[in-house]
Amino acid sequence: MTAAPSRTELQDMLSRIDCDVRATADWGVPAQYIPQLAQIEPAQLGIAICDASGECFTAGDASVPFSIQSVSKVFALIAALGRIGDQLWYRVGREPSGTSFDSMVLLESEAGRPRNPFVNAGALVVTDALLSGRAPKQALAEVLGLVRALSEDDAIHIDADVARSEQATGARNKALAHYLDSHKNLREEPEKVLGTYFHQCAIEMTCVQLAMAGRSLAGLPGAPSVLSETRARRINALMMTCGHYDGSGEFAFRVGLPGKSGVGGGILIIAPGRASIAVWSPGLDEYGNSKAGTRAAALLSEATGWSVF
Ligand code: GLU
Repeated sequence: MTAAPSRTELQDMLSRIDCDVRATADWGVPAQYIPQLAQIEPAQLGIAICDASGECFTAGDASVPFSIQSVSKVFALIAALGRIGDQLWYRVGREPSGTSFDSMVLLESEAGRPRNPFVNAGALVVTDALLSGRAPKQALAEVLGLVRALSEDDAIHIDADVARSEQATGARNKALAHYLDSHKNLREEPEKVLGTYFHQCAIEMTCVQLAMAGRSLAGLPGAPSVLSETRARRINALMMTCGHYDGSGEFAFRVGLPGKSGVGGGILIIAPGRASIAVWSPGLDEYGNSKAGTRAAALLSEATGWSVF
């Protein structure tokens, strides 16, 4: 294990990485299929790190709110496992898919059991499990309540315009939900699951709030104790193997840490025992993962030596 960087070293590293990534100006393109996200200026970059000392360090646009999108799948998974426990795994697997986030291909050959909880099909099953007979409002209150508790910030909210924007254009997710339903892997009506899922994805957070929310997964001292060590370890394993869809291997290769990305351009990255990191830059690469955000994460893991390998 390399020694933890000092406060000044860490702050200097962040400022240098922020400068380097901005100078490269290779931003990628914001998600085009959700109209509210398509309009966002790509040349933005935020980084926040909460470390084991209890301090948070930031650079760039770390206080700009963004749509966390699929990063919410981590919080929905924690909530669903808390609710129904390991029974969830009868309905969704734990293997990387090697396919895009909204792919239908494996779902057909594997009889409606999604590969993992982070591809959209798996996340729809998780949302369905979270609903279990409740109104969408109640399930959403549970996820939002969990996010607020983890980040110790009650100001975090759902951006209803983003949810509506996705609802209006989310044909692929609708197809996935109906396909899951045809295999009896949804208990609720597909439209109810979809509406809940779109709102869960539309939670808005800053890098600082997201890094705060990851402290429990990183097992940092003083973090809210809402999940056991074993569960945190397993969710980190899933983030490492499945958190970036068909770009998961590449992220593990470049960054060497568990991470979950979202098409809003955010990535939550966990350095177990050391730090919780959030990066955000809205332009995406060909896999739908933040382009400049991934570069910032790679530079950070190189500078700190925080790889799990
Ligand atoms: N709400 C997005 C969708 O379902 C989330 C995808 C992502 O962030 O990767 O398409």
